[in-house]
Amino acid sequence: MKEIVIPLLDWFKKNKRDLDWRKNPTPYTVLISEVMLQQTRVETVRSYYKNFIEALPNLKALAECPEEKLLKLWEGLGYYSRARNLKKCAIQIMNQYDGVFPKDYRKALELPGVGMYTCGAILSIAYHQKYAAVDGNVLRVLTRYTACSSNILLDKTKQYFKNKIEEILPEDAGGFNESLMALGATICMPKVVRCDICPIHRNCKAYQTNTIQSFPNKAKPKEKRIFEYTCLFVTDGKHYILLPKEDNVLKGMASPFLVDRFLSSNDAADFLEEHQFSVLHIVNLNDKKHIFTHQIWYMKGYLVFVRDLLSYPKYTKEQIQNQISIPICFKKFIDEINLN
Ligand code: SF4
Repeated sequence: MKEIVIPLLDWFKKNKRDLDWRKNPTPYTVLISEVMLQQTRVETVRSYYKNFIEALPNLKALAECPEEKLLKLWEGLGYYSRARNLKKCAIQIMNQYDGVFPKDYRKALELPGVGMYTCGAILSIAYHQKYAAVDGNVLRVLTRYTACSSNILLDKTKQYFKNKIEEILPEDAGGFNESLMALGATICMPKVVRCDICPIHRNCKAYQTNTIQSFPNKAKPKEKRIFEYTCLFVTDGKHYILLPKEDNVLKGMASPFLVDRFLSSNDAADFLEEHQFSVLHIVNLNDKKHIFTHQIWYMKGYLVFVRDLLSYPKYTKEQIQNQISIPICFKKFIDEINLN
């Protein structure tokens, strides 16, 4: 991606908008402008930013600002928790760092309301350090540029592009970060895409393959499906029945009798009597929950003593411990009935 650095910096130099927060940026002005820009468009931020900085020109003023006044300055921007976090952040900087925004990335990241993006923006723009600032705009540009179909809602995708940018950051890291953000905000927009005037279109994979609208991938992770089961651990006191499972989740593993609904102990006894068992007594086990990749199982469990295990596959404690492959969701029950 190194080839994008010079064209982007040149383009930004010529097309940079005249914005108040770009003039002599300090950590404070970058912090306020970036948090505001996370909420709304540049044009709206202009007047909010001007009023805010006039009323609260520095971290000390923000730290000492009464909440009512702060919220009034924020009124209309929404997400009031962000305004409160700004104040908490200012108080912490006043108390912990003598009013100077920390230059250390880790320390800065620990401040209230300062995430990876804001931290990268402040350290690169105000302190000229080589950190990337990766927001939605930047991810849109870069996933299109590289035709990368990774889901941009995942932290690992953000981290991947953060690392990629940090490999190529020039001396003017802040300018480069700003150029990428500005490209995403004015040229490589979500619906309107102006590739004809884009400074990096020559090597843009999505542009070359006419697949721009396929990027970025922001598919919401699938919701997990919820299941309720009753697990019946059937024993004659010496052996335990475990059945081979062939369904997708437990394929090839051993399972107790699994009923796809919650049963009372009487219902559990009836169920086993219907399967020709002679039930002697039933012990309630504690309810369990297990989370699979796409499913959540809520499970009731019973240890059921029967007269005879009939012709079902049966195992001793030692075999269960050493030879049988038991899914982790059932292991919790097995631990409870102290088979291990
Ligand atoms: S060429 Fe088009 S799709 Fe590629 S980065 Fe530029 S504006 Fe975005």
